[in-house]
Amino acid sequence: MTSGNAAHDLPIAIVGGGFSGTLLAINLLRYGVKVALIEKSSAQLAKGVAFGTRRPEHLLNVRASNMSAFPDDAGHFLRWMNFSATDEANRFVPRLTYGVYLRDVLVEALGKAGSNAQVINGEAVSVDFAGEAPRLHLADGEVLDCRSVALALGNFPPVPHPVLEALPDSLYRPDPWDAKAVEGLAGLDHVLVVGSGLTAADVVLSLGSAGFAGKMTVLSRRGLKPLSHAPSGPVVTPISDPDKRGSALVREVRERARDVGWRAAVDALRPHTQNIWRRHSVEAQASFLRHLRPYWDIHRHRLAPSVAERLEALETSGRLRYVAGRLSSAEAVAGRVLVSYRLRGEDGAAMIEVDRVYNCAGPDCDLSRVDAPIVQDLLAQGLIRSDAHALGLDVDHLGRVRDAGGAVQDRLIAVGPITKGEAWETVAVPDIRRQVWGLARFLADAHWVGGEGL
Ligand SMILES: Cc1cc2nc3c(=O)[nH]c(=O)nc-3n(C[C@H](O)[C@H](O)[C@H](O)COP(=O)(O)OP(=O)(O)OC[C@H]3O[C@@H](n4cnc5c(N)ncnc54)[C@H](O)[C@@H]3O)c2cc1C
Repeated sequence: MTSGNAAHDLPIAIVGGGFSGTLLAINLLRYGVKVALIEKSSAQLAKGVAFGTRRPEHLLNVRASNMSAFPDDAGHFLRWMNFSATDEANRFVPRLTYGVYLRDVLVEALGKAGSNAQVINGEAVSVDFAGEAPRLHLADGEVLDCRSVALALGNFPPVPHPVLEALPDSLYRPDPWDAKAVEGLAGLDHVLVVGSGLTAADVVLSLGSAGFAGKMTVLSRRGLKPLSHAPSGPVVTPISDPDKRGSALVREVRERARDVGWRAAVDALRPHTQNIWRRHSVEAQASFLRHLRPYWDIHRHRLAPSVAERLEALETSGRLRYVAGRLSSAEAVAGRVLVSYRLRGEDGAAMIEVDRVYNCAGPDCDLSRVDAPIVQDLLAQGLIRSDAHALGLDVDHLGRVRDAGGAVQDRLIAVGPITKGEAWETVAVPDIRRQVWGLARFLADAHWVGGEGL
């Protein structure tokens, strides 16, 4: 049994050592808080899924100038890259380079922290809150007593597609982030990519770089494709927090877009997006998700211009085709997949025969079916529940996780994309670095002393 004060000497256990977990650890260590960072994939330590890619064609979708790991040191990444000229700051660097940066930043922080930090290579599978100190169990049988647990689990793999799940492994790639997803392409002639967002763009580029010379059909409900960043840096005139809501707000943004261009109009919302989301009722948020989300996504999460150019060239050459429709069936026939889909706005079905199908339908957010032992353990114990829109975990504004009855728990916290139900924008680096910076200050009680001018 651990007494209250002794519990304070225990580390905060951070489950998941991708961008969110790593940056939370680094910020806590800055305040002298003990940390145990637990990552199941040693190759992904500090990098996570997004920046653990080994493929150089996968570029950041944010300019180098906005990719510092620290909100209080905007030039940190630029200095690490040795970038000083404006055109360098405007570059979209390979994600694997950014992963090396994150690993460097972590190694430096660990070096300074000494015995305050431990990195554990293992999978956390359950947490026991019965004793005074939470006890974390790892898959290999190790246990860790801690002060509190921070879940930084990242994005879960794509939603299983009911039509595709019965296909044999040889014809179906359910996880596009798997490093092996673009292996074994010899002899393939036509692939189908289901979903048309940034992950689909990654897959299309990687297929090309891996030597695939056939056709690619990208199928999504609306057939929308991510738009491109402007070739030169953004010009944003800051606006004050818009007080309009719902459709009046959409009208205001449209009008502004006519004056300053759609990119600047969307970018001007960035500092306010979390407040705007929180001010809307659950019903209004649901209406946004139903009607506007796909359009928001393509305008807000943009492609690096060079990536957009490559995709456009593939489209022009006839090798890449975006189709708006809904998958109806997929059947394995003589080593290929016979796919039928219903075209958007039309009655009839269309059919194609492909050699492989990729599921890029976006991360699964349904906790009940996520294949992650820790999620299932916490659900079974009634310690977590879905947020109102089933986008991830139900948390309060500080990231404290709500249990099945809605009570906020001080010793269970979550960060990163799994908290997007609370603030919507908790997915990209600029948002997460601010989230973990604030959370670390709160967990270290640093919001009361030093820096607040009390
Ligand atoms: C393909 C892709 C590209 C992206 N590109 C950009 C970009 O260019 N710019 C940008 O700003 N944002 C980008 N993003 C957004 C991205 O979500 C965030 O930037 C950020 O990487 C999320 O970090 P995370 O740590 O929350 O999740 P992840 O990076 O997914 O890390 C979670 C980690 O937790 C580990 N883990 C999970 N469960 C356990 C467990 N039980 N025990 C131990 N370890 C566990 C996983 O192995 C993983 O390493 C991209 C996202 C994706 C998916």
